Amino acid sequence: MWRHLDYWSYKLEGTLLRKILSHTLFPFTIILSFWIGMKLVENGITSLSVVGFVLLPILFGLYCAPFERLMPYSRNWLEGGNDTAVDIIMYFSGAFWSGMSKLIVGALFIFGTVELLEPYGHDLWPDQWHPIIQVTMFILIKDFFRYWFHRALHEVPFLWRIHAAHHSVERLYWLNGIRAHPLEIISQAIFYAIPLALVQPSAEIAMIAIILQLSIGIFQHSNIDLNLGWWEYIFSIGDNHRYHHYPDKGVGDSNYGGEFIVWDILFGTFHNPRDERPHDRIGIGTAPDYPMTVAGLYLAPFMTNQSTVFRREDDERDAQDELGQPSLQPAE
Ligand SMILES: [Zn+2]
Ligand SMILES: [Zn+2]
Repeated sequence: MWRHLDYWSYKLEGTLLRKILSHTLFPFTIILSFWIGMKLVENGITSLSVVGFVLLPILFGLYCAPFERLMPYSRNWLEGGNDTAVDIIMYFSGAFWSGMSKLIVGALFIFGTVELLEPYGHDLWPDQWHPIIQVTMFILIKDFFRYWFHRALHEVPFLWRIHAAHHSVERLYWLNGIRAHPLEIISQAIFYAIPLALVQPSAEIAMIAIILQLSIGIFQHSNIDLNLGWWEYIFSIGDNHRYHHYPDKGVGDSNYGGEFIVWDILFGTFHNPRDERPHDRIGIGTAPDYPMTVAGLYLAPFMTNQSTVFRREDDERDAQDELGQPSLQPAE
């Protein structure tokens, strides 16, 4: 659809316009998202309706896809076979499971804990502070839990089976950040229930935070060649997440932050060497043939006949060392 922009992308290379765009696109989008969030809540919209869920990927696609074509990080990531169809289905299945999670959380024993904690939350939240500070605080607190949950998904072998669905992507582009196994979506919702019971911003602040999180999320996976500079020391975007998708878990077990990268910097899992540009050969090193259909992605964690799929690259390296074969070197 956007292929006719390829001609202009070559024309744009090395120009001042591209340089300006690469510096300004991210901060401009963040300010725009905040403004859109404020406008929505001013008009009384404090939650995403079904229409919103359907419209969002279309709007984000119209905004991001042309930039990916005009200034791609990797031209190898511009075409991806049938992955867009899979990612669209995964988007809607993800939205469905997010909705279901609320019911599941309600039905579980944890609901008792949430009810128990809930009254304490009301006095904790500083409603009178500036919306920018409230939104930042809300995302930072949520991200603290996302950091530890995401880290566990990588470090606990059984959880890695579930999270591997997200790492099965072979290219990064604006849409596939949402690719996640339903078990990850549901267990995350349960994990978030406790902090959300304590941290209770208004529906308005939560709505602005959702819009901001969605736009930061787009820049986490987008194939746009941006000059992010110090933004990469604040947010989990750009090269930070490209390293996170490295096939070698020695490098990929890093940069766990959902929106912010500050928790990684604080807990020692930040990986973004200066003067290095991440390569574009991403995926699961031990599972290059990971299922690429929706049914396959759903079933993969339970398939025991693919034992190598879920081995860490380090294990693979150890096994090869024992055989006296050359080690798998971390990709450059
Ligand atoms: Zn991950
Ligand atoms: Zn990702």
